[in-house]
Amino acid sequence: MSKINIEDETINIGDVWKSNEMLKEDIKGKIEIGNFDITDEAVALKKLTSTMHQYTKIELKLPNDFIAASREKAEGNDISFEEYLRNRLSGGISEGEQEEEPAEEGVEEEEEEEEAEEQEEKKEEAEEAEEEEEEEEAQEDEEKGVRPDWDNEEEETAVPQQIVKVRCHNCKRPITITSSERPITVTCPNCSAKGRLEQ
Ligand SMILES: [Zn+2]
Repeated sequence: MSKINIEDETINIGDVWKSNEMLKEDIKGKIEIGNFDITDEAVALKKLTSTMHQYTKIELKLPNDFIAASREKAEGNDISFEEYLRNRLSGGISEGEQEEEPAEEGVEEEEEEEEAEEQEEKKEEAEEAEEEEEEEEAQEDEEKGVRPDWDNEEEETAVPQQIVKVRCHNCKRPITITSSERPITVTCPNCSAKGRLEQ
């Protein structure tokens, strides 16, 4: 397989690096002198052209320390700086990259973490659903005008004759209850909201 230098846009043919233009000149020159053995050049030209079509040159500003470190690593890998960056950016490099070696363990840990996260999410969802149900129930009760408990703890007065003062959950007006019947359903004289008094 012939090597291609992406930066120079050249291909190694017969141990010489040739550009697109050079190959065309070679083919033309051969034909002019009646040498039609141009297969190698034609194949190389096709390969170089099709390969270069897969690349687009962009300008990219990178931090100087990253560039310096990358140059060193490229040298260590015996490849060009550009080649190193290209491999690294496309996720292709692992050779000589000691930091990325224990990646497998890391991946497993991540998976475990993800699993734990998923379970937690499910749990939260279930809790939320429960809460929603409770809210819905409370809302239904409110719509019916019935509330399980009046806010009677502080309002209750230990007066004889069982006179109890509660506060309407709806309009917040005080209501006096004279009956000793328990539990008792009380209708607010102000807004007609119903409530139940257990004790
Ligand atoms: Zn009321």
